[in-house]
Amino acid sequence: MNEIRPQFPILTTQVYGRPLVYLDNAATTQKPQRVIDALCRYYTTLNANIHRGAHRLAADATEAFELVRRKVQTYIGAESAEEIVFTRGTTESINLVAATFADRFLTDGDEIIVSGMEHHSDIVPWQLACRNKSVKLRVIPFSDDGQLDLEAYRALFTDRTKLVAVCHVSNTLGTINPVAEMAKEAHAHGAKILVDGAQAVAHIKVDVKQIGCDFYCFSGHKMYAPMGVGVMYGRKELLAELPPYQGGGEMIKDVSFERTTFNDLPFKFEAGTPSVADVVGLGEAIDFINETGLDRIAAIEDDLLRYATAAIDSVKGVKIYGTAPHKAAVLSFNVGKAHPYDVGTLLDKLGVAVRTGHHCTQPIMDRYSIPGTVRASFAAYNTREEVDLFIAALQRIAPMLS
Ligand code: PLP
Repeated sequence: MNEIRPQFPILTTQVYGRPLVYLDNAATTQKPQRVIDALCRYYTTLNANIHRGAHRLAADATEAFELVRRKVQTYIGAESAEEIVFTRGTTESINLVAATFADRFLTDGDEIIVSGMEHHSDIVPWQLACRNKSVKLRVIPFSDDGQLDLEAYRALFTDRTKLVAVCHVSNTLGTINPVAEMAKEAHAHGAKILVDGAQAVAHIKVDVKQIGCDFYCFSGHKMYAPMGVGVMYGRKELLAELPPYQGGGEMIKDVSFERTTFNDLPFKFEAGTPSVADVVGLGEAIDFINETGLDRIAAIEDDLLRYATAAIDSVKGVKIYGTAPHKAAVLSFNVGKAHPYDVGTLLDKLGVAVRTGHHCTQPIMDRYSIPGTVRASFAAYNTREEVDLFIAALQRIAPMLS
């Protein structure tokens, strides 16, 4: 065993008297002790409300919070820390962009392109933001193996296309989408592009300038950080043009009953007290990833994916969904005609934690005419031994499923 796994205390948990095999990392990753300690340390030694305080503790808490903004900036290669907005997670980040972008830039007849493999978080916010406008969502189809049809993508653009919203990595199929190429295409048509990076940031190198995207959204809890914190990156010139999302403290310069002026970036988008401890925890998680090495994490996960993909073939009746050549560590499958929930429940009794259902991607399920899948997803702390336990458990329950 390498030095990564022992850093995660929860992984020694037993379920039903068996060792926990945690393969639900696309839903949320577990947290290393150093992130748990950072939260505890924050509340033990640093807790104060940030930005407004005249006292020492408030200044220190503010410094800790703003340090993480710069860490995130460096981590994703943003031009400036003003481009990093803290939110509650990917969902809130996309809702923020959808609401403000629609308000500022969309009018009746405009079009938004989304892919057919988007998470509901990258579909519904656009529908909500446009509910009082006749703005059409146009959908990029994908092939049986789970690759976006780029020719069809190019053909979807019209002179009314204002924005493209696409996931960097599909949470259901694992496909790594060619977002840099897609950004070029969007910009050639005068459209902006938002990338949902929820499933990418902890697994592959993300450089927002290299991608050339206008917005990049992600959650802390899928990258070894606490729940309750996420990031909305936006290009500075664009953020400057967008109206505020929520009103309240922190996002203003001056308020009177007649008129309010808004704060500078990024504070214009950060109304109210943020989850300071969770932001501090996110900073610690970024340090963990950097010190472990993202290349190394990607190599471990790639090995586990290949190993599991080859091994699962030995289980009778298994069909994998998402077999694109460029793929992250997500393995979606069904066993014969068994309902995914039954498979997940039986696996759980043997200590294996997987996710079952539509994974908030119902259009993908419709595309394959299935109710859902079983999804095993890997993180840096998983091992080949765990994959063996998972496959052995599948072998054991397979006869009960037909
Ligand atoms: N986008 C993708 C691709 C996801 O996988 C998820 C979560 O599973 C989300 C968005 C939503 O993330 P959150 O629930 O952390 O806001």
